[in-house]
Amino acid sequence: MKISEFFGKGRAVMSFEIFPPKKTSGIETVYSTIDELAQLKPDYISVTYGAGGNVANTSTRDIAAHIKNDCGIEAMAHITCVNNSKDEVVTVMDGFLDAGIENILALRGDISPDKPPRTDFKYASELISFIRSQNKYSSIGISGACYPEGHTEAESLTADILNLRRKVDAGAEELITQLFFDNQFFYDFREKAKIAGINVPISAGIMPVTSKSQIERMVTMCGASLPQKFVRMITKYEQKPEALIDAGIAYAADQITDLLANGVDGVHIYTMNNPYVAKKLVGIIEKLL
Ligand code: FAD
Repeated sequence: MKISEFFGKGRAVMSFEIFPPKKTSGIETVYSTIDELAQLKPDYISVTYGAGGNVANTSTRDIAAHIKNDCGIEAMAHITCVNNSKDEVVTVMDGFLDAGIENILALRGDISPDKPPRTDFKYASELISFIRSQNKYSSIGISGACYPEGHTEAESLTADILNLRRKVDAGAEELITQLFFDNQFFYDFREKAKIAGINVPISAGIMPVTSKSQIERMVTMCGASLPQKFVRMITKYEQKPEALIDAGIAYAADQITDLLANGVDGVHIYTMNNPYVAKKLVGIIEKLL
């Protein structure tokens, strides 16, 4: 089933995001995590893909296939194009198709300072147009990424939203946001997207913070703003790891409650492969969806 078909049914869509285990641990190490997450009955689970674009690494495909075929939960496989040629994209997409995967999140991927990007695709919209031009992938649902505070490379939020419109025009049927900690960014972005003629569902990406180092890493990577009340929470509990986890869950639950009250289409939870955190968070929000 295409992810876009989950929307418009009178309730918000709930999805999880997980990442494949590091090269050093076997793929099976993520299966118990998935089994626990599947019990929380999300509408779908998405699986990230390395920006390195190593076609020989099939972990995203294998994990997404396990989610869909063994756990009976709809799966979304991420795919990046920054380091892939058209032929390599076809290889990856054929692998998804053969594994029964029906949904992808089509991304450019981050440009590495150490590796010049390949030249077949410059932007995610070009990847989406290419996939849409291939008849054999017509049954695949395509989602795209979006940035409530603007993408780090964009000259302005307005310019980024105009580029986002190209992505939707190319065929993205749903959008998932980068994480944010201040809902006002999301509301302003959603309004501007609507004015720009973007009418596909937008799921809000929410990350329950579980450690100070995690938040430092994330902020460096994606540039999310940290509101004062969030910084105060981290400062208060940074020396008490268990309390910080509970506080991070409470903060995420508060964000989601407010988003739901404001008619968000979907909530995409960056689980960081932590079923304990996902379980506690879902326990708080499941009746609100
Ligand atoms: P694009 O949509 O191509 O945008 C990139 C930049 O180019 C933006 O600044 C945009 O404004 C600009 N742009 C777009 N089109 C044009 C145009 N026609 N002319 C001029 N400028 C243009 N990364 C991974 O490596 N693996 C993952 O699994 C992964 N999952 C993600 C999931 C989500 C929900 C999100 C939000 C991000 C994810 N990322 C992932 C990170 C993502 O790859 C990076 O943020 C990347 O830098 C941008 O990808 P994009 O698809 O949004 O790019």
